[in-house]
Amino acid sequence: MKRVFSTHANAFVGKTTTFSGWAHSVRRMGKIVFINLRDKEGLLQIVCSPDSGEAYEIARKIRPEFVLTVTGKVAKRDPKNVNQELATGSVEVVAETIEIISESKTPPFEIVNEDRQASEELRLQYRYLDLRHERMRYNISVRHKVALFVRNFLNGKGFMELHTPLLSKSTPEGARDYLVPSRLHKGKFFALPQSPQQYKQLLMVAGVERYFQIAPCFRDEDARADRSPGEFYQIDIEMSFVTQDDILNLVEEMFTAMVAEIFPEKKFTSTPWPRLTHAEVSEKYGTDKPDLRQDKNNKDELAFTWVVDFPLFVSQSKDDFFHGSGAGTLAPSHHMFTAPKEEDIHLLDTDPAKVRSYQHDLVLNGFEVGGGSIRIHRPEIQEKIFDIIGFTKDQKKQFKHLLTAFEYGVPPHGGIAPGFDRLLFVLLGEKSIKEVVPFPLSSEGRDPMMGSPSKVAPGQLRDLGIKLDKSE
Ligand code: ASP
Repeated sequence: MKRVFSTHANAFVGKTTTFSGWAHSVRRMGKIVFINLRDKEGLLQIVCSPDSGEAYEIARKIRPEFVLTVTGKVAKRDPKNVNQELATGSVEVVAETIEIISESKTPPFEIVNEDRQASEELRLQYRYLDLRHERMRYNISVRHKVALFVRNFLNGKGFMELHTPLLSKSTPEGARDYLVPSRLHKGKFFALPQSPQQYKQLLMVAGVERYFQIAPCFRDEDARADRSPGEFYQIDIEMSFVTQDDILNLVEEMFTAMVAEIFPEKKFTSTPWPRLTHAEVSEKYGTDKPDLRQDKNNKDELAFTWVVDFPLFVSQSKDDFFHGSGAGTLAPSHHMFTAPKEEDIHLLDTDPAKVRSYQHDLVLNGFEVGGGSIRIHRPEIQEKIFDIIGFTKDQKKQFKHLLTAFEYGVPPHGGIAPGFDRLLFVLLGEKSIKEVVPFPLSSEGRDPMMGSPSKVAPGQLRDLGIKLDKSE
């Protein structure tokens, strides 16, 4: 049996062909049973009349979401029955045999007419059914296309895709870490990376020069419509021997080509994308994420904007950064590896709050969709930044590996990390970032389908040397 995908049916008119998929909808008109068969490509009408003998008896038992294999002759539909909305709307399959591969209970919400009435909890509990919705299937297919485009584009520019560890050490990106207890080293913990920041910088010291990764990042933060709780993906990029303009130009070229290929209906408000300083946008728009669309109701308008020349530091509240331990009055505006602008370095000693940095943010329609910077590659400047943000000796020690690496020939380097989910969420005009993620956590940071997070067996805790505080 050679199975053919639904949308290829047009090429098989007059031939006996086999199709498999789900019964999307089942209708009866008089004695005839019509089944819309759904597979990953689309829908195809199956027709079954009493002439089909045993197949007809089976067809009468089929309910929505049953999994079927149908063999029959592909026939042209009568012109008056052509369905213009369907890619296969001019053909149908006259069933000869039908096999019910598996049955389905009545789903907890409709798959045919997505009404979005189902609660988030229910949709996530039955995410495998929710993903059957046309909109969700479209969203995840676009996700795949964008990932593939980015890979091919960066590969074409000489970038190497490398995976960096997930069992890592806490990276100070300003959020709370997810910790993983170590069994072999009791009392010690790995942290899931908030981003591969230090690894990618170390890859530059290693001489990789051009690295990228569609990298999972973990931050223990509360959910927002434009932010996933728990984990998210970034298009993580790092390059050596580059200027800030080189990084901006690369990303601008990549996303311009990606939009032309995957979202040809979308138009940019302006090209090249405006590059505005932080001082300018703050004064003119009162925000560092300005929405520069001409028509904010036009879903096909894309206003990409670069914001540069951020202040290197922001004032930090006492328990903001590094959980308050040894905090100075200033915190890095982006992260502590961001380089000060060359012409402002002298202010580090006298007026650090005035120092501008080589940070760049990418804004799309009022959402921040990426950030990065030229990095510090001089150990003495990195030490100075640690001092200004009030690092203790112990805190500094945690970054010794980076400073040591910098003693062995470090190229000037910089990068950026556009948020992959965030970008898709804005491009697809979705209401929540969860609509572009196959298996997101709920707004409360749980997975109602897997039931995670969950309790673990006492033996597992014993292995890890962990005792739970029963009072909690
Ligand atoms: N690691 C940074 C972040 O997650 C991005 C970068 O500087 O490249 O925001």
